[in-house]
Amino acid sequence: MNILKKLFPPKQTPIETTLTITSKNGFHLRPIAEFANKTKAFQSTITIIGKNQEVSATQVPKILALALEKDESFILKCIGNDAQQANEYLTNFFEQLMHDDLEVKMVEQEADHYEAKALHGTTIAKGIAIGTVIEYFKTVKHSSEAPCTFDEALNLTAQDLDQLYKENQTNQEAQIFLAQKALLDSDLFQKHFDQIDEEIQKLKGTPFESRIADYQDLQKRIHSHMGINSEFKLPADVDTIIIANELLPSEVEELSKLSRIKGVILRQGSSTSHAAILLRAFKIPTLICHEKIIASGEYYSSILDTISGQFINLPTQSDFEKAKQKAHQFKTEQKTSYTKRFEPTITKDGKSINVFANITDINSAKKAKEQGADGVGLLRTEFLFTEIKPTLEQQTQAYQSILELFDDVTIRTLDIGGDKSLPYIHIEKEDNPFLGIRGIRFSLQEQTLFREQLLAVGLASANIPNKKIKIMFPMVSTPEEFTQAKNITLEVAKEHNLSVENIQFGIMLEVPSVIFALPEFDALVDFYSIGTNDLTQYLFAIERTHPTLSIDPVSPILLTALKQIMTTAKKPISICGELAGIESVTQTLIEMGYTTLSVSANLIPSLKERIRHV
Ligand code: PEP
Ligand code: MG
Repeated sequence: MNILKKLFPPKQTPIETTLTITSKNGFHLRPIAEFANKTKAFQSTITIIGKNQEVSATQVPKILALALEKDESFILKCIGNDAQQANEYLTNFFEQLMHDDLEVKMVEQEADHYEAKALHGTTIAKGIAIGTVIEYFKTVKHSSEAPCTFDEALNLTAQDLDQLYKENQTNQEAQIFLAQKALLDSDLFQKHFDQIDEEIQKLKGTPFESRIADYQDLQKRIHSHMGINSEFKLPADVDTIIIANELLPSEVEELSKLSRIKGVILRQGSSTSHAAILLRAFKIPTLICHEKIIASGEYYSSILDTISGQFINLPTQSDFEKAKQKAHQFKTEQKTSYTKRFEPTITKDGKSINVFANITDINSAKKAKEQGADGVGLLRTEFLFTEIKPTLEQQTQAYQSILELFDDVTIRTLDIGGDKSLPYIHIEKEDNPFLGIRGIRFSLQEQTLFREQLLAVGLASANIPNKKIKIMFPMVSTPEEFTQAKNITLEVAKEHNLSVENIQFGIMLEVPSVIFALPEFDALVDFYSIGTNDLTQYLFAIERTHPTLSIDPVSPILLTALKQIMTTAKKPISICGELAGIESVTQTLIEMGYTTLSVSANLIPSLKERIRHV
């Protein structure tokens, strides 16, 4: 029978899902590269069917060639033993990618007025630049050294991109290098430059124009290995504001090394382009301005104020003074908050506020420590589980190293379901996953992972005597759920002879039902942490990942709920949702009585400084 099965394996039914591109950028290079990368984690054969063609989901250039635009759909087809898991995981991941692409936040611009005429644009990176406007153009230089052949240059370019990816792996922007490397393998780059040029010409004016930058960037990298370099000459000793139609990612990288470049104006492009992402990462004040700006060739200074999104070509004396003062203030604010990041955070009337970090693993814990976090308000443990299930030892080690870094750590148990899935966990497909088996509901149903996680926390705690730990359960909606989860923890501890003396138990306050049962919860829990991300979605009945519906993140309705929680609950409360880091509500939250805010690491220095002025 077994031999028969081997010789004639039962035909496996493909699992298919239709996915639609919701990002206005289409299914473009970076998300494709991320998607293809995730696909490799599964054993099943995974393909994409779009425009009547079926291509492997691991082949970036082939998916790119399908040229899938906004509102077009494709079928994700998985065949194999883990087809179901693969399909669910990749479907969720694709939706998240589309969501993130929509989500590249516009930088908030402040209103401001200059005397001279100002041109307005969209801020890519905030700051003030004063300098001579120089048109960005390059002259081609042929090196006298023996150049590489085209094929050798291709190989060297692939190695460069690998290296760049490794060096920048912790940053989101590193995906750009990985994506470009995948593009190098496409048929187009196996041909000659003339054909690449032809392809670039064809893309002009099409919805895929944004690809041109990646093609040109690769051309440039290959060229340089062939001894052909393009050079940009800066005038000596002059602070400059570069104006360009657009920039390639590699050009941004080069420009970032030139200290005399104070700012950048782009005539084209968008805040989602690879170059824009890098300009933000390098903190170069940048504006996209569609109005006509011509570098006159004369050396006089202009002002680029990307805090208010303006370019002033011919500023008055008082405009200069204003810009200089603003630049000084901006720099000082950033520097001060960074240098004061380890100092106590006390409001003007003497209230001490804890600024904690939301983290995912030991690396983000170290980053948070360096940014001045006073503790960890939320360890999103599901990120330790994303690719493969960690062993008990690995989990224990991860929790222990984080606990060694901070005195106050809140470990949230697995929050799976909704928009978060694990490749090796099967959750039946639900019509409304955000209202389904999510968070504690999943852990109470499928207790194996939950019990192992609780044991890992218990062991980590036992390895560091006298360290207080907080265990927090996600998505709790009734007191019974909390009691059940706590009892399981006590059982696990008892089975393994572990003490729970140093452990406090709390819940994420993110389901509105909890607000109406606070007296009951007060009798059970040791603490609450408000997850405003989910609380908002459930208060307004609008999915947090919905592509078109959105809610004002600082809605007065949400603030009323926060006020009500603060006045009713008797146990300590912190906020760990995104709202905790929003500038405009810091004062309001403190006035309501919140004394612990937990935010992403890079927001910590500026949040602390803002609190000191409340
Ligand atoms: C929240 O819901 O606000 C929260 C902090 O948790 P997550 O974003 O992980 O759901
Ligand atoms: Mg949540």
